[in-house]
Amino acid sequence: MNESKDFLRLIVEEDLNSGKYKEVVTRFPPEPNGFPHIGHAKSIALNFGIARDYKGHCNLRMDDTDPSKEDTKYVQALKDAVEWLGFDWGENVYYTSDYFSKLYVYAQELIKMGKAYVDSLSEEEIREYRGTVTQPGKRSRYAQRSVEENLELFEKMKQGEFKDGEHILRAKIDMSAANMKMRDPLLYRIRHVKHFRAGDEWSIYPMYDFAHCLSDYIEGVTHSICTLEFENNRDVYNWVLDTLKLKPPRPYQHEFARLGINYTVMSKRKLLELVEGGYVSGWDDPRLPSIAGYKRRGYTPESILNFCDQIGVAKANSTVDISQLEFCIRDDLNTKVPRVLCVLDPLKVSIVNYEGSEEIEASYYPHDVPKEGSRKVLFSKEIYIERDDFNEEPPSGYFRLTPTQDVRLRHGYIITCKEVVKDTNGNIIEIKAEYYPDSKSGSDTSGRKVKSAIQWVSAKKAKEIEVRLYDRLYKNEAPESIEDLNPNSLHVIQNALIESAVIDEKPDVRFQFERQGYFYADPVDYSDEKPVFNKIVSLKDSWSKKKKPQSRQNKAQAKKVQIDGEVTPMSEAEQALFDRYTTKLHLNSEVANTLARDINLSAFYSQALSVINSPVALANIVSNEVARELKGREISELKFSATQIAKLVKIIDDGTISNKIAKQVFEQMSKTGKDPMWIVEQKGLIQISDPSVIVPVIEDVIAKNPDNVAKFRAGNRKLLGFFVGQVLKSTGGKANPQIVNKLVIESLEK
Ligand code: ATP
Ligand code: MG
Repeated sequence: MNESKDFLRLIVEEDLNSGKYKEVVTRFPPEPNGFPHIGHAKSIALNFGIARDYKGHCNLRMDDTDPSKEDTKYVQALKDAVEWLGFDWGENVYYTSDYFSKLYVYAQELIKMGKAYVDSLSEEEIREYRGTVTQPGKRSRYAQRSVEENLELFEKMKQGEFKDGEHILRAKIDMSAANMKMRDPLLYRIRHVKHFRAGDEWSIYPMYDFAHCLSDYIEGVTHSICTLEFENNRDVYNWVLDTLKLKPPRPYQHEFARLGINYTVMSKRKLLELVEGGYVSGWDDPRLPSIAGYKRRGYTPESILNFCDQIGVAKANSTVDISQLEFCIRDDLNTKVPRVLCVLDPLKVSIVNYEGSEEIEASYYPHDVPKEGSRKVLFSKEIYIERDDFNEEPPSGYFRLTPTQDVRLRHGYIITCKEVVKDTNGNIIEIKAEYYPDSKSGSDTSGRKVKSAIQWVSAKKAKEIEVRLYDRLYKNEAPESIEDLNPNSLHVIQNALIESAVIDEKPDVRFQFERQGYFYADPVDYSDEKPVFNKIVSLKDSWSKKKKPQSRQNKAQAKKVQIDGEVTPMSEAEQALFDRYTTKLHLNSEVANTLARDINLSAFYSQALSVINSPVALANIVSNEVARELKGREISELKFSATQIAKLVKIIDDGTISNKIAKQVFEQMSKTGKDPMWIVEQKGLIQISDPSVIVPVIEDVIAKNPDNVAKFRAGNRKLLGFFVGQVLKSTGGKANPQIVNKLVIESLEK
């Protein structure tokens, strides 16, 4: 757990300390209408995490009140996800449908109290009668029905004597309430649909507002944690529980921000569309943000939980950069998995002065923290290297094999190029090379210097494998439709070559293919005859985000920062810094590594840290943005100072600007050297929270999207995200997302 507690944990602590509850009980209440995604992981981590931290309990409850979309296969997927993340729901999985009889009795109670009535207005009239945010609603003429009549009608609704939509049970609260949710909310609707558990027993199904609070109460839940879009439903939640005068203690609802990630979509409905439309191979397609997808791709549960921990829990919706998740999986695998040699695009190299073969002992874990385990790598006359690792006309800064530049074969010898063999079209088909017998890694007496060590495999023993490379599912940061799908999100390489030990010895299922990235033996399609590996993530976050897809040359340059030759161990001073960063300041090892190994960066960091005590946020900016600016330059050449970077972090921390805007501000700082606040004011980048500014933008978006407005009003609540996204986009990302969310709901419900 993070050192600092989130606001929900503070509430739980207070409630336990004050004696309000003896034990904390939370629940994770998904609707089984699709596979869970990483947003659900956030909710799972939060609900089960709180129960674990405060020695309480967390229930897994299927919120199965809409039989038209639900299915047992989704129940199974939800259970799998919770289990995979390492949580335990105890003896039973709960189902709202198990409470249908109890809920029916509670509804009868409300009717008897004169607090609920059967309404027979049409759907359209109901909407009309609700009024708007500025105008009160009007109560239905049917609200006058007697208790007896209501009870009788309600019973007949249950018996299936009416058609869908003919009647509806409503709470009698207040048709002029400022909170529109309180304008006689719907409690039960008629649905002649078979339920996947309850079968044909019911012709009526309870609505969320009625079922959720009572299910929580029935289960003894204390803290009912949900996402922000339910903020206005809280009044109904309280009304139902209070009006029924239930025996205390009762649960209370608390809201937190949903997780969104860029370049993907995050809702079961949208994921279902991709699966059913055949845009992906299934719910476990490794490109999807579904838990099943991450699992199949090779993500570890630890990395997902760390991610949830890092992003924290807040009250404002925001979109998290996908690179933050990638960071977490890299961080997790970095020291855990064996490093092996694999060539994705093989180019033959014949070592003309070598005969026979030899086995070279090579550690699987040749990094800072030595772990036991090694294999034998075969060296022989014919080997394959990566096509990219030879260049006849190298750009400057190219550190690998060229006609005039030697290179080391990882774990092996230094080789030199003697001849380039081409086909009739001029394509390189082979390199003839010589090796230096006295240059073997570990016993090198040749005194030769090389700038880089490259991966290779022996032609004799290498195994052919299929490699599946994944890129972002969508082209756009905030995708809106199927059209935004990235057509190149999957690239399959049929005949990559890998050293044989990986297939024969199977030291693990996850690997670092040196200089390529992290890979996972596909749990479904892998066989010894046809091994298949999924790329989990690349080794480094390339700063290519704003660039076009990388050309060969770019790729060459980006790669050179990865491993040039063998990794040099840290000096004692660097190691000490690294230790301090990771243990005292809680930086993750990748950031700590970047800072500790660069004396300029670490000095800059410590200076900024003396101005503002925000170690993690500062370290992220310094190790990424500042490091990028500093490449090949001196600190004195930078336009901005450490103090200015500290100021930038401060205005991010205090909510003056969003993370997204911060990137823009940084760009300006590095160009102009101005203070961040000056730039923010000058460019008008302050978060906009004033409704009088936001509402006209919302109205504009509403006017432009009549179809979606109609769908939303017809009950498609999921379109809320679309509207919020559009509004944020129109304000250049400056509007405060939480406020936009609230105002959009209000405007749409007019
Ligand atoms: P979806 O739109 O994907 O179907 P939902 O909110 O309808 O999501 P539920 O199955 O009803 O999904 O959600 C189960 C729990 O997970 C709820 O408490 C919900 O608030 C939470 N949850 C769903 N999506 C997210 C998300 N993106 N971030 C955080 N929590 C989420
Ligand atoms: Mg839902």
